[in-house]
Amino acid sequence: MFVRSLCQTSVLLATLALQACSNDTPPTEGAAAPAAGADAAAPAARAPGAAVTAERLTNAESEPGEWMSHGRTYSEQRFSPLDQITAANVNQLGLAWYADLDTRRGQEATPLMVDGVIYVSTAWSKVKAFSARSGEPLWSYDPEVDGQWAVNACCDVVNRGVAVWEGKVFVGTIDGRLIALDANSGQELWDVNTIDKTKPYTITGAPRVIKGKVLIGNGGAEMGVRGYVSAYDANTGELSWRFYTVPGNPADGFENPILEKAAETWSGEWWKIGGGGTVWDSMSYDPGLDLLYIGVGNGSPWNHTFRSEGKGDNLFLSSIVALDPDDGSYVWHYQSTPGETWDHTATQQIIVADLDIDGMTRHVVMQAPKNGFFYVLDAATGELISAKNFTDVAWATHIDLETGRPVENPAARYDRTGQPFLSTHNPNGAHTWHSMSFSPLTKLVYLPIHGTPFIYGGAKEYSTTAMATNLGTDFSGNAALDPQEVLAKTYGRLIAWDPVKQEEVWRVERAGPANGGALATAGGLVFQGTGSGQFTALDATTGAELWSSHAQTGIIAAPMSYMLDGEQYVAIMAGTGGSWAMIGGDSNMKGMALPNESRLLVYKRGGTLQLPAPTSLVRPPMTPPPHTAADGTIAVGAPLFETYCGSCHGAGVVGVGLLPDLRRSPYLHDAEAFSQVVIGGALAPNGMASFASVMNQEQAQAVRAYIIMRANQDAPAAQQ
Ligand code: CA
Repeated sequence: MFVRSLCQTSVLLATLALQACSNDTPPTEGAAAPAAGADAAAPAARAPGAAVTAERLTNAESEPGEWMSHGRTYSEQRFSPLDQITAANVNQLGLAWYADLDTRRGQEATPLMVDGVIYVSTAWSKVKAFSARSGEPLWSYDPEVDGQWAVNACCDVVNRGVAVWEGKVFVGTIDGRLIALDANSGQELWDVNTIDKTKPYTITGAPRVIKGKVLIGNGGAEMGVRGYVSAYDANTGELSWRFYTVPGNPADGFENPILEKAAETWSGEWWKIGGGGTVWDSMSYDPGLDLLYIGVGNGSPWNHTFRSEGKGDNLFLSSIVALDPDDGSYVWHYQSTPGETWDHTATQQIIVADLDIDGMTRHVVMQAPKNGFFYVLDAATGELISAKNFTDVAWATHIDLETGRPVENPAARYDRTGQPFLSTHNPNGAHTWHSMSFSPLTKLVYLPIHGTPFIYGGAKEYSTTAMATNLGTDFSGNAALDPQEVLAKTYGRLIAWDPVKQEEVWRVERAGPANGGALATAGGLVFQGTGSGQFTALDATTGAELWSSHAQTGIIAAPMSYMLDGEQYVAIMAGTGGSWAMIGGDSNMKGMALPNESRLLVYKRGGTLQLPAPTSLVRPPMTPPPHTAADGTIAVGAPLFETYCGSCHGAGVVGVGLLPDLRRSPYLHDAEAFSQVVIGGALAPNGMASFASVMNQEQAQAVRAYIIMRANQDAPAAQQ
């Protein structure tokens, strides 16, 4: 995690430092592009902002031009009823306005648009408001997160969005706070800590507001935490209720009766590591049933044998749980991966919809979690209606509809066999947080999926270690995979899935695995951005590409659409980053090697604005010092790098340019400066924490020797 290791350092390498520092947080606010039309209303003259009420959110379908909550409506269908932009005229789509952002990390947020104002969060949990008409910046808020907290973030310092309610804007921060802002001014109204600050929790997900309570989860199951979701009073920030997704130490007593039941599915002393089960992304709500649905994450550690002595289903890991939103009490659950051991989160988006199944209208929830199966459940009871794999999966053959349980491939249980298991998917799964969209018109779900070969190995021993991914899983077998074969089998695609027939209707192959979420519209279109920088519009019925525009950077976020003054707009956050870019290594290079140009892009028909000339991905030369270290030194440095550094700087020291590619680092030439960063914490404020608590000087130099060795291996090809 040698984050931004070129910043703030030797004059001698000032040019390189500038390049590297531009990877993050330039000090000045990015200016909005010239306005296509001036915004008539000055901020002071505006009506109270974000006047979103329970009535408006519950009846969001009656305001098709607004986008008032994360998935547009409580159902999280991410469907826009706007139909002005169609297959016949989408070729007229052009840039109406854009705003440069002041961070250079992954942008994952879905903007909200309420009463003419766009509210959006960016990397480092910042919040910005813009005139939706002109792009004029209205205010900007920085929670001033301690950069060192980035060491706890498995998958980049991202943020997926804000919530609005009765004049307030809510954001969760990467360091675990929930903050309320005045929607008109961006002034902070309250700021509460939602986590135990001695544990490596992070927040990347968007809050939701139900009946005056702000709901927020957290992440950290890769690092050793216990998952939960909390509800706070929107006016005061006072904690209303908290639902833990895994039981704690039985000796302390259980928070509620259902956790006592859940504890029967655990063995050993899971609570010492936390158990996992973080609620880091999906929440949806059904106002008719008055049920809140949360998606629960993977176990901590991943390895079921180390986590729970290889016994039990480990509720409520990898589950959808339905709760009463008033008090957080349990109603039902469905667990998609019992005894999970592969990072099979079920935090993926939960869509509430009506489907015609066997001649009846069924009110359902739908989810496509990491494990590669598409689930349709009864929304009131959690009864499994159907489940089918939406891509090739290796860990299970099918879901037994009688028992509701997966039929596993015994070889997949690396945690029990101790033998390596070659999966069709890495820990990003077959689908992760990249949003899917359901069109009630086509009755199809538009689902961004991905995969790459990956070996899960049974670790021989497990110990809790600070500042590292804490998984009990051995990744070293992946080094033996043929990189060309891995690339050939790495895919990313958008599929149209019929959730009634449980079958694929069409697919569009993308250049690489990490692409954006989907937006279906009543204009018969599906919008999606790609990791290779194309923002595209497809025919919702056939998948034929009808329009595309290059965003100059990879897109991983989902688009949204709104209407103002009788005109339909489509907006999307652009800016490569996130888990694929951080740890992807070679497999991620498929079409992903673009600079991070973080922007909010807004399109309309007849838009004529052009982006400034693109910057190219300039990388420092790969000119390492000669590799002279003894094999014994490399044998010390390599596992340290993969444990502490690889999750940000790339497995095998193959970065993609989001954070410094350490093979190109000038610190390879300067042992003392290298130690000042890694041990001394010289760049801590920028996110590169000191690793002094887990590494001594000698070990840090062994890591440097390993990087030098790797750079010498790769330099000949890099200089061609
Ligand atoms: Ca995970």
